[in-house]
Amino acid sequence: MSLTGIGPRLQERLDNIGIHKIQDLLFHLPYRYVDRTRLIPLGELKAGTDAYVQGEIELTQVRYGRRRSLLCRISDGTGAIILRFFYFSKSQQNNLKRGQYIRCYGKVRKGSSSLEIVHPEYRLVDLDNEIELEKQLTAVYPSTDGLQQPRIRKLMEQALDVLKNNKKNITELLPEEILSQENLPTLTDALEYVHRAPTTANIDSLIAENHPAQKRLIIEELLAHQLTLLKLREEIRKEESPIIRKSKDLIPKFLENLNFELTNAQKKACQTIFSDLNKNSAMLRLLQGDVGSGKTVIAALAALQTIENNYQVAIMVPTEILAEQHYKNFSNWFEYLNIDVVLLTGKLKKSSKDSALEKLKDKKSIVVVGTHALFQDNVIFSKLGLVIIDEQHRFGVHQRLALIEKGKMYDKYPHQLIMTATPIPRTLTMTAYADLDHSIIDELPPGRIPINTTSHSNKKREEIILSIKKRILNMECQAYWVCTLIDESESLQCETAIATAEQLKQKLDKINVGLIHGRMKPNEKEKIMRDFKEKEIDLLVATTVIEVGLDVPNASLMIIDNAERLGLSQLHQLRGRIGRGNEESHCMLIYQSPLNDLAKERVETMRVTNDGFLIAEKDLELRGPGEVLGTRQAGIPELRIANLKRDSYLLTKIQKIAIKLIKDEPEKVKLIIERWLGKKQEYSNV
Ligand code: ADP
Ligand code: MG
Repeated sequence: MSLTGIGPRLQERLDNIGIHKIQDLLFHLPYRYVDRTRLIPLGELKAGTDAYVQGEIELTQVRYGRRRSLLCRISDGTGAIILRFFYFSKSQQNNLKRGQYIRCYGKVRKGSSSLEIVHPEYRLVDLDNEIELEKQLTAVYPSTDGLQQPRIRKLMEQALDVLKNNKKNITELLPEEILSQENLPTLTDALEYVHRAPTTANIDSLIAENHPAQKRLIIEELLAHQLTLLKLREEIRKEESPIIRKSKDLIPKFLENLNFELTNAQKKACQTIFSDLNKNSAMLRLLQGDVGSGKTVIAALAALQTIENNYQVAIMVPTEILAEQHYKNFSNWFEYLNIDVVLLTGKLKKSSKDSALEKLKDKKSIVVVGTHALFQDNVIFSKLGLVIIDEQHRFGVHQRLALIEKGKMYDKYPHQLIMTATPIPRTLTMTAYADLDHSIIDELPPGRIPINTTSHSNKKREEIILSIKKRILNMECQAYWVCTLIDESESLQCETAIATAEQLKQKLDKINVGLIHGRMKPNEKEKIMRDFKEKEIDLLVATTVIEVGLDVPNASLMIIDNAERLGLSQLHQLRGRIGRGNEESHCMLIYQSPLNDLAKERVETMRVTNDGFLIAEKDLELRGPGEVLGTRQAGIPELRIANLKRDSYLLTKIQKIAIKLIKDEPEKVKLIIERWLGKKQEYSNV
C-alpha cells in the first residue's frame, strides 16, 4: 500500500483485517464515535450515555463493601458525579487529591446514591495549561491485536488526503438517480465525513448513524450484499437443469392413498414447484410455512415427480433423528409405489452406507435422506435431479451451494427446494435468501386447535410434576419434557436429561418415562421414537434434539424446562411438536426466576400467540438478525455500517436498484461487490 510508515509487520496486521489497498482502508469504517469536542456539565449527565466531563475533586476515599473500591467525587458547580475504581494502586489513590482538577471519559450509570462512571479514562488537569478539546469526533475502528486506534487514525488521515488530492482514486458507483432522489452526498464526501467528521458535523446524527453520509454508505453496502446473492442466482440459473415433467402415474396414486386432502395453500405451493421443475434452469425456491403447516408432504410430491422422470432425489436435514424420521415416513409412503428410499447419516453402519452409496452411483432413481454426510467425498450422485433441504436455517448459503455443486452431473445442476423450519422475518429473507424465489404456506391443515401455553416459576416444580401426572393419567395423553442448557454443549445437555429422567421416574410411578438425547446410538434413538409413537412411553424426556421436525400427533403436552434459556424461534419450533392431534394441547414453560426483561418478553410472546410469522418478527426485534438464523454461517453477512434491523426499510428500494444495475450496468456490479466484500467474497467458487 502506497502510504508512508507501513512496514511488513503493520501490513501483515492490516492484511489480517482485510486491508490490502487504500480503498480497503477507506472502506474500513468506524463502528462508533467518541465525542471529545465538548465537555458536558455534570448537572446534565444522564445514565446510559457516554460523557466527557471535567471537575474538581471533592473527596477521595476507599470504600469497603462487598467489593473494595476507590470512590472519587468530583463537581463542577452544576452538579457532581462519582468516579469508581475497583482496581487501583496506592499512587493512583494519592494522585486523586482533593482540589485537583480532572478530566474523564466513560459511560455514566446509576450508582447507589448518585450517577457514577466506573473506571473512566482520565487525565489530571492543570488549569493554567488546559487540555484542548478535540476538533472533530474521534472515530473508533474495528481492529486487531497490535493495531492501536491512533495508528489506524493516522493511516486514515493519509488515505483521506490521497483521496482528496486525487479524486480518481475512488469511483462513484451508485446510480446518479439514487443520489439525487435520496439527496445523498458523493462517495468522496461521504467517506471524508464519516472518517473525519468536521467541527460543524451534526454529532448526534452521526452517533445515531442516520446522517446522509452514513446513509450513502449504508445503501451501497446493502446493495453490495444484494448484488452478490443476485449474481449467484444468475450464475446458477445460467446452468442447465433437467426438465422434470408432470407425473402421470406416481402422484395420482400417492394422492389417492393419502389419508388427507391437501390444503389450498399446499396445492398452490405444489403448482409453483412443479412449474419450476418443468424448466431447464434450476429451481431455487424457499418454501416457508409455520410449524405443522405440512411441508413434508410437499417435499414428497416434488420427490415423486422427480423420481417418475428417472432422476435421484436428495433430502438433507440437520439432525440424525430427523433424518431417521423422514426416512421412515418416506419409506412408508413410497413403499407400495416401489420407490427405493435410503438413509445416509454419519453414524450409520458401514454396510448400510456402502449399499446406499452403491445405489447412488449406479444411476438408480432413488430417494436418499441424510444429514451433512451427504457432502462427503465418497458420495457420488450419478443423476441427482432435486435437492430438498429441510429446516433450512441450520444450513448456510455455502452448504446450499456445495450440495448442488456435488449433484452436478456432466453439465446439469439439480433443482433445489429449501424448506424453513419456522417462518423467517421478511427482512432476513430479503438479505440472506435474496438468491431464492419464495413461496409461503399461509394456512394450517383444518381442525388444528391452538396450543394453550402457560408459564411457571421453577419454585412450583413439585406442583407442576403432580399436575402433569394427573393430566397424563386422566387424559391418556403423551408428553415431552424438554431439557435445555445455557451452553450448547451437547454432552452437558445429555447429562441433565439423564438426571431429569431419573428424577421424574421416581416421582411419577404408573407412568412410563423414556429418554432420548443426541449421544444415543441411531438404533437406540429409533427404538425410543418407535416406543413413543406406539404409546409404550408416556413421557419422553428429551434434549433439544427433538426441536426440529418430529411428528407424533398423540403428544399433546410439552414441558420446557428452563425455557428462559431459549430464543423465540427455538421455543416456537419445540412447541410445534404438539398441537398436531385432535385434542387441545398444552405447553408449560418452566423458568428459573427471576426472569430478566428480555426473557420475560419472550415467555410472554409465547403465551399470547401461536403465530409463527408474528413470533419471527418479535424474535428479530429482540435478538437482531445475526442471531435469528442460528449460526453465523447461515448467510447473514457481517456488515460494516448497515444494520439490518435499523435499515430494513431500505431493502425494497435496494433490491430494485440491484436488479437494474445487473441489467444496465453489469461492469459496476463487480466493482461494488469487490469494494465491500473484498476477498471474503468467494460464493462463486465454493
Ligand atoms: P411441517 O410443515 O412442520 O414440516 P409436517 O409436514 O410435519 O409439518 O406436517 C404436520 C402434520 O400435519 C403431519 O402429521 C402431516 O401428516 C399432517 N398434515 C399435513 N398436511 C395435511 C393436510 N392437508 N391435512 C391434514 N393433515 C395434514
Ligand atoms: Mg417439517
